[in-house]
Amino acid sequence: MKKVQRRALSVLLIILCLMGGVGYFTFRFFHEGEKWINFTANKHIYSGGMVIGGAIYDRDGNPLLHTVDGVRKYSENESVRCATMHIVGDKKSNIATSLQKVYANEMVSYNIVNGTYSVGGMGNYIYTTLDPDACARAYEKLKGQKGAVCVMNYKTGEVLCLVSTPTYDPENPPKIEDGDDAYEGVYINRALSSRFPPGSVYKTVTAGAAIENIADIDEQVFDCQHTFVTNGQKVVCSGTHGEQDFRTALRNSCNVAFGQISIQVGWDATTAYAQKVGISTAHELSGIKTVKGTVASSGGSNELAWLGIGQNTDEVNPYAMMRYMGIIANGGVCQEPYLVEDITTSAGLKTGFARTRKSQRILSEDTASRLSDMMRYTVSNGYGDRHFPDGMEVCAKTGTAELDGKKKSHAWFVGFSGNEQYPYAFAVVVQNGGSGYSVARPIASEVLGALKEKADKAN
Ligand SMILES: [Zn+2]
Repeated sequence: MKKVQRRALSVLLIILCLMGGVGYFTFRFFHEGEKWINFTANKHIYSGGMVIGGAIYDRDGNPLLHTVDGVRKYSENESVRCATMHIVGDKKSNIATSLQKVYANEMVSYNIVNGTYSVGGMGNYIYTTLDPDACARAYEKLKGQKGAVCVMNYKTGEVLCLVSTPTYDPENPPKIEDGDDAYEGVYINRALSSRFPPGSVYKTVTAGAAIENIADIDEQVFDCQHTFVTNGQKVVCSGTHGEQDFRTALRNSCNVAFGQISIQVGWDATTAYAQKVGISTAHELSGIKTVKGTVASSGGSNELAWLGIGQNTDEVNPYAMMRYMGIIANGGVCQEPYLVEDITTSAGLKTGFARTRKSQRILSEDTASRLSDMMRYTVSNGYGDRHFPDGMEVCAKTGTAELDGKKKSHAWFVGFSGNEQYPYAFAVVVQNGGSGYSVARPIASEVLGALKEKADKAN
């Protein structure tokens, strides 16, 4: 009898193990099926690293990637191919933030019930918000320098231009030798995944924090005699600006004034503001994660002064900077930027993909409009409207982030068009490019020009 009992118990144990195993497999299938399918070596989905199905389009309906006679093809235009490689993805799927990588499921139309089967077997179509002309112009104007150009429509949140260099023609990939400086970090989307010291563009963050935290900031006068000393350290300005008010201090990009303003704002308020406007936080652009900025939150008054000027150890992400410009431009309301407008089947049916169109008030109308006025004054009484497309009423700030040693500064230019007919906010950075005014500004102006031309034609 005991023998029978023992056997029954063994059988029961085996059955339990089996059931447990099946249960575990089912659990993993539902949870990780996506990962198994997306594994780059899966020949049902990838061929030599490329997703085999689906297509990606720009906002005008031109293919950025599609299949022609069984062959995967990028855009017909070489500049567009180079300019959009980081978003579309290269042939070997080296770019972690590309649509081919992040939207691999949607492109091959994988789901838990049907697997990768789709009617017609051609996968899904992803319609992006990218403007091909703006992207191509940004790429051409960067002229082989390393950097990033980000432009969004601040009224709708559509990302129009997101270009990162170095890049290459994904249709004709070059042979890249190890340590080739020309292709340093070529698979990183600098717009989304890199951080740079901000230099004076950070004064737009300090100015915002000052407006919200110093009641009499507009009545204060700042006397710049080239340097001032705080916590035993000298803060140096690029000029000797004499007496100036808050608005003029931004136009002059005065380090003495902004160092003192930052100290008045204090660590807590400046940290809270950088967080609120998303300069020190990470973001998600249609499911693609961006890197967060590193902004110090404590230290001596000298470090606080340098932070406010943008020359401490802090680093910010170009995309986050564009998003902040969009908030100011849109009266304090953030239209969360997005890149994917729609996903349809190859037959044109919507897949049920829900676009993330989100808006939230980040700054008061008063803060946003005072910041806009200051940045407008910086252009109209500083850089000069003649450098920008007619009637755009550009509000902006340059940055020339000085670096240690002999390396050339990073050139920055951030801002937006104050004319709501052309609702574009932008951030441009050129790595070791030199002066923000002479290197980054012309790139922004060129891309704004391309967008304006198109908007004028459409009207
Ligand atoms: Zn000064």
